Amino acid sequence: MSPASTPFTRFQTTLTAVLERLKPSPAERKFLSEPQQILEAKLPLTRDDGSKTEFPAYRVQFNNARGPYKGGIRYHPAADLEEVKALAALMALKTAVVNIPFGGGKGGIQMDPRKLSARELQEVSRAYVRAFQQHLGSDIDVPAPDVNTTADVMAWMRDEYEKQTHTFSPSVITGKPLSYGGSLGRDTATARGGFFILQELIDREALDPQDLKVAIQGFGNAGGTMAHLLHNAGFTVVAISDSQGGIYSADGIDPVRVEKYKRKTGAVAGEYCEGSVCDVQKMNMDGVKHVSNGELLELPCDILIPAALDNVITAENADRIQARTILELANGPTTPEADVILEKKGVRVIPDILANAGGVTVSYFEWVQGRSGEQWTAERVDLELRRIMLDGYKMVRRTAYREKMSYRHAAFAVALRRIIAAMKARGWVNV
Ligand code: NAD
Repeated sequence: MSPASTPFTRFQTTLTAVLERLKPSPAERKFLSEPQQILEAKLPLTRDDGSKTEFPAYRVQFNNARGPYKGGIRYHPAADLEEVKALAALMALKTAVVNIPFGGGKGGIQMDPRKLSARELQEVSRAYVRAFQQHLGSDIDVPAPDVNTTADVMAWMRDEYEKQTHTFSPSVITGKPLSYGGSLGRDTATARGGFFILQELIDREALDPQDLKVAIQGFGNAGGTMAHLLHNAGFTVVAISDSQGGIYSADGIDPVRVEKYKRKTGAVAGEYCEGSVCDVQKMNMDGVKHVSNGELLELPCDILIPAALDNVITAENADRIQARTILELANGPTTPEADVILEKKGVRVIPDILANAGGVTVSYFEWVQGRSGEQWTAERVDLELRRIMLDGYKMVRRTAYREKMSYRHAAFAVALRRIIAAMKARGWVNV
C-alpha cells in the first residue's frame, strides 16, 4: 500500500482496473468516478457543562441514476470526507450489485460518540438532519445506521425530519426501531445475507460445514451474528476477536459462551484474560490460545471473515493468509495490492459490496413497508433476502467465470454496467 492511499483512492484503484475492461465513454467515466454532490456542515453543540463546540459533518451523494441515494451515517473520529466519499461510492455499487432500486450515498459526523452524553448525542443527531434536511427524503436520499449509529439515532432523525417538514415520512430513514417503523430482521440482515452466500457456495462444492473452520475478526452486529449462524449450522468457529484481541481454539469456540463472557467482562477473551494478564492454566485446559487481531487473520482456517475494520488485509500480510475463502462483512477490509496477492494464491474473496449487502437489502424492505403501510413477517423478510442475495451472488459468479475476473472485479463490473444502463436510459450520457 502506498503511504498516500486513502479509502477513496483504494476504491478508485479497483474502479480504474474494472473500467479498463468496460471501456465506458468519458461522460460515463466521470459520473462513475466522483460524487454527484458533496454536502458539508459544522454541527453546533452546547455541551452539558454549558461550553460550546462543533463537529464536521458530511453527506456525500455519489450516484442516484438507479434510485434515491442510500447509505448509512457513521459517527467516528476517522469519518472524514475521504472515508465518507469511499463509503458512498461503495454504496452505489452495493445497491446495484443486488439490484435494489437505490443509488449510493453516505454520511458521517467526525467525532467520538463515546465522549457524549445521551442528551448531547441526541442533539447532534437532530442537528445533522437540520443541516441536510432539504437534501434528504424518501425519494431523494435515505440514510441508515452505520458504525456507532443505532436504531435510537435513526428514530431521533426521523422525528426531527418530520418536525422540520411537517410530514409523516416513515421511509425517510431506515434501521429504525420496530416500535417506530423498523423492519423485522434488520438487526441480523448483514450476517444473514453473507451466510446465505456461504451456504450456496459450500452446497455447490458439496462441502460439509462440519469440515470447515472459520475465523471471524469482530464480534459486533455483523461478526457476532455470523458467529452464531455458523456455529448453529455446524461450522467450526475457531477464532473470534474484538477490539481488545481474540481467542483461538482448533477444536472450536462456542459463540454463546463468548457472548456471555463479553457481556460480563467487556471482551471476548474475558473468560481467560483481563487486559494483558491471561489465566494460562485455564487456557491450556480448554485448548485455547490468545491471539492478536493481526494474528487472527493468518490462522489456519478454511474461511476468514473480516467483520470489523477496513484496511486490515494488506500487501504486508496477504501472503500469510491461510484461508481459501474470505467473506468480507466489513467494508473495505482488503487493499487492492492485497487483492492481487490473494488472487495469485487462489484465495476466493467474496467482496464487501456483495457479501455485506444484506443490511441495505433489508433497509430496502423497510423503505417499501414504510411507503405501503405494510408490516412484513420475519419469514417473508428472510425469504426475499435469500432470493436477492443469491441472485446477486450467482450473477457475480457467472461474470467472474465468463470474463475471467476476480469476484471483486466481477461485482464491480455487474454494478457498473447496471448504473451505466440507468444513466443511458435517463439520457445523462450518450446512448
Ligand atoms: P459493531 O460496532 O457492531 O461491531 C464492530 C466490532 O469490531 C466490535 O466487536 C468491535 O470490538 C470490533 N473492533 C473494533 N475495533 C477493532 C479492531 N481494531 N480489531 C478487531 N476488532 C475490532 O459494527 P458492525 O455493525 O458489526 O460493523 C462491522 C463492519 O461491518 C464495519 O466495517 C461495517 O461498515 C460493516 N457493515 C455492517 C453492516 C451492518 O448492518 N451492521 C452492514 C454493512 C457493513
